Amino acid sequence: MRVGIIGGGQLARMMHAASIGLGIRVSLLAEGPDVSAAQVVHDVVVGDWSDPAVVAAFARAVDVVTFDHEHVPTPILEALVADGVAVRPGPHALVYAQDKAAMRERLAPYGHAPANRVVATPDDLRAFGDEVGWPVVAKTSRGGYDGKGVWTVHDPSGAHVPFESRSAGPTEAQGRGHADVRVVAEEHVPFVRELSALVVRSPHGQAVAYPVSQTVQLDGICVETTTPAPGLTEAQATECQRLALDLAAGLDVTGVLAVELMEAPDGRILVNELAMRPHNTGHWSIDGACTSQFENHLRAVCDMPLGLPTARAPWTVMRNVLGGPRADLVKGLDEVLARDPSLRVQ
Ligand code: ADP
Repeated sequence: MRVGIIGGGQLARMMHAASIGLGIRVSLLAEGPDVSAAQVVHDVVVGDWSDPAVVAAFARAVDVVTFDHEHVPTPILEALVADGVAVRPGPHALVYAQDKAAMRERLAPYGHAPANRVVATPDDLRAFGDEVGWPVVAKTSRGGYDGKGVWTVHDPSGAHVPFESRSAGPTEAQGRGHADVRVVAEEHVPFVRELSALVVRSPHGQAVAYPVSQTVQLDGICVETTTPAPGLTEAQATECQRLALDLAAGLDVTGVLAVELMEAPDGRILVNELAMRPHNTGHWSIDGACTSQFENHLRAVCDMPLGLPTARAPWTVMRNVLGGPRADLVKGLDEVLARDPSLRVQ
């Protein structure tokens, strides 16, 4: 089986590691020759994922297409499906991870949502804030990631900011093939913590749910997870897992579905957003679970039986250290590894 991964980030790199044991061959459509996954994958095509011809040529050479990121425009993926390419997750599901306005609309019957509305003008946003109370959170419907494209608007005087920033193009991805960028206004949830419910579903409908993680975001980036989420009642944990499994089945997701959740002060569990690919809140599973999210994602997209998601230790903590331009990322690693032999670095 040859799996084509679109996007060459750390998630593709970690999927590649999981592919080795399964005997799955990975091909990569990478943004550049030196991106994270291109440093380790043998079969790399460097090309633009927003170019229909590039994506189509890449897809023809593999058995199934999956993703490191969610930015490939829906029409490109729909064209692949029409050509008979196995795209997993399919564009009909992926759109709810790509478009926050579509997601809020589609998930309305499931409950678990903060008050929200698509707003067309600063005046609409002011009216929404006056109705639900300030502050409010405004988000671009498409192209946001790691907190980019999300604004907390504290009072009516800031209502113009999301619209101006949107037209200036807050994210690299949003301008590429997506004309339809809207602004979604949401009630500001004074959450006590954030949680992640991660499930994996295969095309024939088998699904597994990982233990729920507590996640810590700094400037919109996940910096730490603890699994299972400390103090979460069994009823709450079951509610989160049930919701994620229902969404995976209801939206017909193949592969990982990560449901980012907020726990409100009154114990309500509210959906923040969805991701349909291995997720940074699931990295703990590489060493902390019987089967990692990366292995289960690959098993799912290849329609193989899924592996046990059960935790292997009472607690697993993940810290996310961003390298970026830092040349000294591994400086001091020896000392850290020596201090705690149970520490694992991925
Ligand atoms: P991204 O697509 O960048 O991950 P998110 O929609 O996940 O954007 O929002 C980023 C962060 O903003 C969330 O992790 C959460 O901390 C905060 N946030 C998002 N929506 C709300 C909300 N309705 N109320 C309070 N905080 C929110």
